[in-house]
Amino acid sequence: MLFASMSLEDDLGDWRRSHYSSELHGMDGREVTLMGYVASIRDHGNILFVMLADKDGEVQIVFKRNAEGSDGATTQALFSKARMLKEHSSIAVKGIVRSMKNAPKGVEVVPKEMKILSLARSVPPFSVYSKNIPLDVRLDIRAVDLRRHYLRAVFRIRHNLLKAIRSFLDERGFIEVSTPKMISTASEGGAALFPIFYFDREAFLAQSPQLYKEQLTLAFEKVYEIAPIFRAEPSRTNRHLAEAISIDVEHAFVNYEDVMGILEEMISHAIGYVVDKCKDEFSILGTTPIKPSTPFPRYRYSQLIDILKGEGIRIEWGDDFAAEHLKALSSMLKGYYFIVDWPARMRPFYTKTKDDGSTALSESFDLMHGDLEISSGSTRINRKDELMERLKMQGLKPESFAHHLIVFDYGMPPHAGFGLGLERLLMTVTGLENIRDATFYPRDIDRLVP
Ligand code: ATP
Ligand code: MG
Repeated sequence: MLFASMSLEDDLGDWRRSHYSSELHGMDGREVTLMGYVASIRDHGNILFVMLADKDGEVQIVFKRNAEGSDGATTQALFSKARMLKEHSSIAVKGIVRSMKNAPKGVEVVPKEMKILSLARSVPPFSVYSKNIPLDVRLDIRAVDLRRHYLRAVFRIRHNLLKAIRSFLDERGFIEVSTPKMISTASEGGAALFPIFYFDREAFLAQSPQLYKEQLTLAFEKVYEIAPIFRAEPSRTNRHLAEAISIDVEHAFVNYEDVMGILEEMISHAIGYVVDKCKDEFSILGTTPIKPSTPFPRYRYSQLIDILKGEGIRIEWGDDFAAEHLKALSSMLKGYYFIVDWPARMRPFYTKTKDDGSTALSESFDLMHGDLEISSGSTRINRKDELMERLKMQGLKPESFAHHLIVFDYGMPPHAGFGLGLERLLMTVTGLENIRDATFYPRDIDRLVP
């Protein structure tokens, strides 16, 4: 049985792709070798239309039972072979390009030979063209789900966002760093950590590169890291993952206002770049973002509390904004905006308090898009005694942070920075409603596979 099905398949051998599907315009009459997978099959009895998709797009291949001017036996064999195809099979086709007004992309390919490199054994419960399929159905076969044109567009936009962000930071003199993801103590306190076995000891997966990136400003002044953060988030929301990608920036000799400036310019630049670069992708998504102009509006935390109270919504100074508060704010505040100057006790221990004599407020910000937080940042404390004081006030033990605190004995410069969630940024750019679709293989409280 196994042997019989294997014999239907061909080896790649010395065949190599000559062109991608996107390169066929103006190539009338030329012979090409294409490779990819079968996106769809339309069977009209004597004629079979196969859409071959590759990483750049797709093209129609027309198999005819009786092709003119060709030897009957070859045509018949090729046609029979094509009839065995199932969607998603991996194929290679040698054939002649021909322009065809009615074909989906204005060209089609008339095949001379085909290799079936891998014949699909089963057909997934959705097509590559479908948009709204329940997530759980798709996630079980995520690798195939990612072939859907919608998600391919999302991930090409993600790639280009990252590219624009890296080049933006590079041009401004930041260097990319990598910090340990296996750590001995919580970097921030608060957020729940994943414990792991580290040889004979307990360790944790890093919830943030915070303390390491601060330390790195000592030698490099301007650093960034794009890497996973791990959060044992027990809640089921459309905006939390247990493993997310954070774009972390830290900058010496500046304060929170300076890094807010960098953050808004970076986002505006990255969106401008993808709008320009990913036109096809946005047309598949059916929505294109507008490059946001800078500066983004800034609202003080206290100001927003007053606004909410003015609307008759129950909230007190010192409360965090809950989902219903953020909903109410997003009905008034559109696009990207900052919430600045949060109460110090609501922010992590390393956050500097405001220089206005009061220690109640901190030099801190969240960047929001509607009701979604996409970044948090602040001026950091660079004095050791102050940092130890704040650790204690937040119920943390300075001894647990000895390896971090020692760095502050060696002239830690003033510094500021932020962490920006890549998946959340991608949601705002693409209009995705569930963060799980902004990552290749989501990890959450229910899902550890695939
Ligand atoms: P939230 O209040 O939304 O849970 P947070 O304030 O705990 O987020 P921070 O510690 O400020 O998150 O992390 C900085 C950024 O990293 C966030 O603004 C967000 O974009 C991203 N981020 C944090 N936690 C997650 C998560 N569990 N899933 C996806 N992104 C996250
Ligand atoms: Mg935050």
